[in-house]
Amino acid sequence: MKILIADDDPISRRILEANLLEWGYELMVASDGLEAWEILQKPESPNLIISDWMMPRMDGLELCREIRNMEKSKYIYFIILTAKGEKKDIISGLEAGADDFLTKPFNQEELKYRTRIGERVLNLEHRIMELANIDSLTGLLNRRAFMEKMEQEMSRTQRENNSFSLILTDIDHFKNVNDTYGHQIGDLVLRRFTGQLKTLARPYDFLGRYGGEEFLICLPGANGLQAASTAERMRRQTEDMEIMLPDDSQSIRITASFGTACYSVESEKDVDSLIKRTDVALYMAKNKGRNCVCNSNHSELGKGTTVSFNDPPNEEA
Ligand SMILES: [Mg+2]
Repeated sequence: MKILIADDDPISRRILEANLLEWGYELMVASDGLEAWEILQKPESPNLIISDWMMPRMDGLELCREIRNMEKSKYIYFIILTAKGEKKDIISGLEAGADDFLTKPFNQEELKYRTRIGERVLNLEHRIMELANIDSLTGLLNRRAFMEKMEQEMSRTQRENNSFSLILTDIDHFKNVNDTYGHQIGDLVLRRFTGQLKTLARPYDFLGRYGGEEFLICLPGANGLQAASTAERMRRQTEDMEIMLPDDSQSIRITASFGTACYSVESEKDVDSLIKRTDVALYMAKNKGRNCVCNSNHSELGKGTTVSFNDPPNEEA
């Protein structure tokens, strides 16, 4: 775990450094509040700060207030160090948004355990964030988290003038699985299906649950053809997969339909329009008799043409 130390007094800084390093923490060090503030603007900056109160340029209270005003998805745990041990000082520190305080000269054991408390709070926060973003059945991102991540991907693609593609897939006749075998087996099928989708995704692709048996796969950097070929591999692997019932009495086979679309910087303004195109492609795949891939290319969509990988190769225009 990384900790940021902000203190203008070199001796106090060194004592903090020596102790925290000994307890296994990684450190970043600033000699005043402004320097600490600059460090916090960088990616991968620490989420736990131990900051002195009295410092030139920007003091600990100002630093804390600035941090509380900034928009950051991760929480920053702030411990303020102060020689001012009076009640009213402690209260103004807490008022500024500090989580905890230590009075100087501090006791080593106290520093250790107050740091541990901060670490525990941050771990809990991390766990809560995880639970809020993940679909508990499949372990994939839930719809909201997927959309958020996709929006980030879209801005990155616009900045770097790159491409990215989307796959939307839906298990064919899934209702029959639930009706025939019950919802527990239905859940098992969803887990097996998404598990095999994951095996074909690259490490930087991300998957999300869109609805009941509908799933989205975002492929950063992939063009339309690459997305369609990934979808085709997923389709084939799904068809070949045998899902054994828990009592080993029999196995189930499923198929899935896939729609793919490639994001176009010129014509797409939001994630919704890209999802809509992917949805149209999926709808076409269903209409073609299911268990196939349809690729909705933006320029082709107007003409209503699709590419199906189940069609003979000469039709792949
Ligand atoms: Mg000071």
